[in-house]
Amino acid sequence: MTNWDKRTKAVHAGIRRSAYGEVSEAIFLTQGFVYDSAEAAEARFIEAGEDEFIYARYGNPTVRMFEERIAALEGAEDAFATASGMAAVNGALMSLLKAGDHVVSSRALFGSCLYILEDLCPRFGIEVSFVDGTDLAAWEAAIRPDTAAVFFESVSNPTLQVIDIEAVSALAHAVSAVVICDNVFATPAFSRAIEQGADVVIYSATKHIDGQGRALGGVILGTREAIRKTVEPYMKHTGGSMSPFTAWMLLKGLETMELRVRAQADTALALARALEADGVRVIYPGLASHPQQALAMAQTGSGGTVLSIDTGSRGAAFRFLNALKIFTISNNLGDAKSIATHPATTTHQRLPDDQKAVLGITPGLVRLSIGLEASDDLLGDLRQALAAR
Ligand SMILES: *Cc1c(COP(=O)(O)O)cnc(C)c1O
Repeated sequence: MTNWDKRTKAVHAGIRRSAYGEVSEAIFLTQGFVYDSAEAAEARFIEAGEDEFIYARYGNPTVRMFEERIAALEGAEDAFATASGMAAVNGALMSLLKAGDHVVSSRALFGSCLYILEDLCPRFGIEVSFVDGTDLAAWEAAIRPDTAAVFFESVSNPTLQVIDIEAVSALAHAVSAVVICDNVFATPAFSRAIEQGADVVIYSATKHIDGQGRALGGVILGTREAIRKTVEPYMKHTGGSMSPFTAWMLLKGLETMELRVRAQADTALALARALEADGVRVIYPGLASHPQQALAMAQTGSGGTVLSIDTGSRGAAFRFLNALKIFTISNNLGDAKSIATHPATTTHQRLPDDQKAVLGITPGLVRLSIGLEASDDLLGDLRQALAAR
């Protein structure tokens, strides 16, 4: 299985068939598991075997299938599935760090990630230094001999800054710091984060892995040692585990993810090019106008499924959003449906204006998550809404 292509792994990896030999993965909607005897219960609590489960908060056959499938796709030794992407970010940071530790993080983060690093970590005695993630000299200056971990979104939400995973990992590993990479925008379809140096990779499965707007989910990937010895005890005792029903949806999502994500990224590139030619200010890592196009291409081979445009002002952004007919105003991304978001007043509303300015979250910025609709229909919709600004 290890030499199968990603597409084959996406369909077959991790499958566990029950005695009925079902073709499609079964949903084991059970929170507990029966033991043959008191002795068997005791033995399982001492050490559970590969196919032995105790309680769904600890693990469940459907959830295990999802974990093994995504670990195979990502090229990670193991994975722990979580209730949401944020349960994964929180679980990775809280299980790997302790009071007195020092972390260096890129500043351009999703609002909830920023809350954990900026508000929560310091409350528990974890010191966090923020840097401009695109500036390698800033990483080098901030990483200290006692730095325990570095954290970044490999492509930042919503300004699409690209972090050089290989270069930042080399700086972190020089002081034995753990590299934790929130890889949502890269998607498991384009990611090579582990071979590029990340030790722990996190996804919000809510995004491209489900890809159809149905479920919240997340996953933490890493070495077997890190996942089973450090992450699992924290997650299973604090309750952020994934439900079996969600795991089943996400397993089916993984089967079609690469086809969906490639189609979405192709449309995103076509739209980014067309809008830029129309004179719109477009931020998209696949465009020559993006300062890190070469890095984005070397790192993932794609500009991804999300682009941002600057409509000029908050008023123009609202008029544009309200004029859209195919794009829905929402805050998910990676969905089959194209979605438009105004970060300044929604996902990043909490940030003070000076921080928004530092991150490039201007009043007119609109994030566009490109779905599976026909490219020409989407372009027509964007053009008529831009004209209505
Ligand atoms: C959405 C998102 C998350 C959080 O995921 P949820 O599933 O919504 O909890 C974390 N990081 C990034 C970069 C995201 O886009």
